Amino acid sequence: MIIVLKPDATKQQLDHVLDRIKALGLKPMVSKGTERTIIGVIGPEDALRVQPLEVIPGVEKVMPVLKPYKLVSRDFKPESTVVNLGDGISVGGKALVMMAGPCSVENRQMLFETARAVKRAGAQVLRGGAFKPRTSPYSFQGLRDEGLKLLREAAKETGMRVVTELLDTRDLKMVQQHADIIQIGARNMQNFELLKEVGQLHKPVLLKRGLSATITEFLLAAEYILSQGNFNVILCERGIRTFETQTRFTLDLAAIPVIKKFSHLPIIVDPSHSTGEWEYVEPMAKAAIAAGADGLIIEVHPNPEVALCDGPQSLLPKKFVKLITEIRKVAKAVGRTV
Ligand code: PEP
Ligand code: MN
Repeated sequence: MIIVLKPDATKQQLDHVLDRIKALGLKPMVSKGTERTIIGVIGPEDALRVQPLEVIPGVEKVMPVLKPYKLVSRDFKPESTVVNLGDGISVGGKALVMMAGPCSVENRQMLFETARAVKRAGAQVLRGGAFKPRTSPYSFQGLRDEGLKLLREAAKETGMRVVTELLDTRDLKMVQQHADIIQIGARNMQNFELLKEVGQLHKPVLLKRGLSATITEFLLAAEYILSQGNFNVILCERGIRTFETQTRFTLDLAAIPVIKKFSHLPIIVDPSHSTGEWEYVEPMAKAAIAAGADGLIIEVHPNPEVALCDGPQSLLPKKFVKLITEIRKVAKAVGRTV
């Protein structure tokens, strides 16, 4: 259920409604918009049918939520969410966010070289995996805590924010200490315990769409995080499994306007993992921004030939410079800035 208060509802009336919801054994979540306040009700809603809240002063209407997700929906929060990353950087406003860096942190030299290059090109957030979710157990698994420390150092030197993946709840403390944005990868989109854990934090979370997840499942995964109190969620479309084999995955660009319609959360696009080939990264990045994405996350490597992970889809720094130049033109055309 969603309870919409009247525009002139008082603080006392709001508190009274919240008390009534709690007394019925339900959990209220408040969304204060510029126009009016909306309360999302979490828990078994049958109680509300027995004791309707419409009669309480200050309440305009009580609406059933037809979608399975509530807090991520635009019904609950009509205004788009802008996630603040600190240092004057945010995701979901007019300015696009550019996240870039290697697939994995391999060593100090390559990380610093890449960080300096992507910063110079205009990226604000440094990406890099310290814990890698590899398909084969024999592939490079990441430098773990050493990788996290290097990311923090490189970001400090270059003046960037850090996004890095958390694979396991046992590493949460360590990742939380070094990351500005915690990434939940495609393979963990439905790791519900992990989602609940990051939901307890205030730190921004980058939630990537599962390899075979529908948009509804994707939004329900985000709902897990919001239902724990963390509203700082950035969604990421990164391609889904289809029958097509020419690209690594199929980038579902339609997910951008669909998600913008049904959810207030910002969404960025990963043209690297979705295509799997560097040649396709720039065209899909441009298409993503044209379709309304709030930013991009892109893999860049100084020498893709020797990359320990995802070399074929990694851009050389000079190609990343070109990509940003092209993105600036598309951004201008759709009323965004880079
Ligand atoms: C990544 O961004 O490093 C990654 C592994 O992506 P995904 O979870 O989308 O496969
Ligand atoms: Mn990768």
